[in-house]
Amino acid sequence: MKVKLILPALKEAESPFWRPIKYSLFPPLGLATLAAYLSPDDEVELQDQHVETLRLDDNPDLVIIQVYITNAYRSYKLATHYRNKGAYVILGGLHVTSLPDEAAPYADSIFIGPGEETFPQFLNDFKNNEPKKIYFSSKRTLKGIPKIRRDLIKRNRYLVPNSIVVTRGCPHHCDFCYKDAFFEGGKSFYVQQVDEALAEIDRLPGKHLYFLDDHLLGNGKFASALFQGMKGMNRVFQAAATVDSILRGKLIEEAAEAGLRSLFVGFETFSPENLRQSNKKQNLKKDYQAAVERLHSLGIMINGSFVFGLDDDHNDVFKRTVDWGVENGITTSTYHILTPYPGTRLYQNMEAENRILTKNWDLYDTRQVVYKTKNISNEELKAGYDWAYKEFYKWSNIFKASFHHPSHKHKLKHLLYSGGWKKFEPLWNFLIKTKNLNNMLPLLEAILSKVKLSNEQQKDAEFQLLTE
Ligand code: SF4
Repeated sequence: MKVKLILPALKEAESPFWRPIKYSLFPPLGLATLAAYLSPDDEVELQDQHVETLRLDDNPDLVIIQVYITNAYRSYKLATHYRNKGAYVILGGLHVTSLPDEAAPYADSIFIGPGEETFPQFLNDFKNNEPKKIYFSSKRTLKGIPKIRRDLIKRNRYLVPNSIVVTRGCPHHCDFCYKDAFFEGGKSFYVQQVDEALAEIDRLPGKHLYFLDDHLLGNGKFASALFQGMKGMNRVFQAAATVDSILRGKLIEEAAEAGLRSLFVGFETFSPENLRQSNKKQNLKKDYQAAVERLHSLGIMINGSFVFGLDDDHNDVFKRTVDWGVENGITTSTYHILTPYPGTRLYQNMEAENRILTKNWDLYDTRQVVYKTKNISNEELKAGYDWAYKEFYKWSNIFKASFHHPSHKHKLKHLLYSGGWKKFEPLWNFLIKTKNLNNMLPLLEAILSKVKLSNEQQKDAEFQLLTE
């Protein structure tokens, strides 16, 4: 059987502000994971429209399309194209799970929730000529999942081909997050067997890893065993975790020892009222600055995530957020305009209050205002968001933030990482065009190498932590 797996390009990837590098970071791991359930006799192709032109003149028997909110319309068009050619088309992913009724008419089968249980079921039904219209995942486990089909990934097209996921979901329940909608009807946080995760890491070439887990430290026992197992593997890695998990216990030290060099942290807002309203309880009464200092004392760079437009935000939120990031030496900041994704509690609340301004999903890219704001006008929100990005990534602010770090090496790493990420667009574009992006990996690994603090600096950092 000929099988084609497609990740259609997100709508924003076409915008004049499109930064191709942003969409050439990670390969479509979810599709490569599903491909592992196919038979070795199948002829399988995986196409990611962000890094290659889609071939549409082929005739696969089965087409699998991963649907996100801002590629939904494109996905439906592709599905129609292949159904007209006689292929059996299945749609799955976050958007299909949020709005199954919208997606269903475009597909022969739709998948709700994660696919590790339902996709093998489907394949069996398909073989017996009795596929169902809807597959709903209720039993969730990662035990014994087959090896990801990494051979289908065109490694040289991505900056970070070694992306990996060893957990699913997250233990928290923020109102604006897709997570609860996607995992509804079963476990919403579960982990791989430690030895299977370590074996997957071992199979990856090179040194660098990027854990795409929502919250790598979410299960302390699992994370601790994973980091113990990774010691001595000579890896450097990047990951995401919450503020409270950084402050609790010694897990973050174990992560640093295993090779953690940069962490995505969801600070989101400084307002307790916003945190309460968003059900982001895990950040309430947590000392953000202490978390930052703890990470820096371990030589871990920070990518801070911040949301603008929550109901308790006022006009001053942009400057306060940018200033805090610069003053605290945050290496990179990711700003988002609050976006009520369908299926989330935020969306339900806003719809009940008649605050949703548009259901054109192409606009739901966290760069546009798609709802009626409260203490700030929609225009101010958009302008403030644009300003924040420009301001944070001004050279003067990149330098100022880098001077926050005590060691020269950390200062330099900060400069190279932040400046390299935002200021060398023509170079990134050239590397993408010439399909040489992967050649930058040794540089990234060098930037992520360990920062050793002098004894004095270490003592200062520890003292600061104790007194905070
Ligand atoms: S902590 Fe992050 S991943 Fe978890 S529910 Fe909140 S926003 Fe989603």
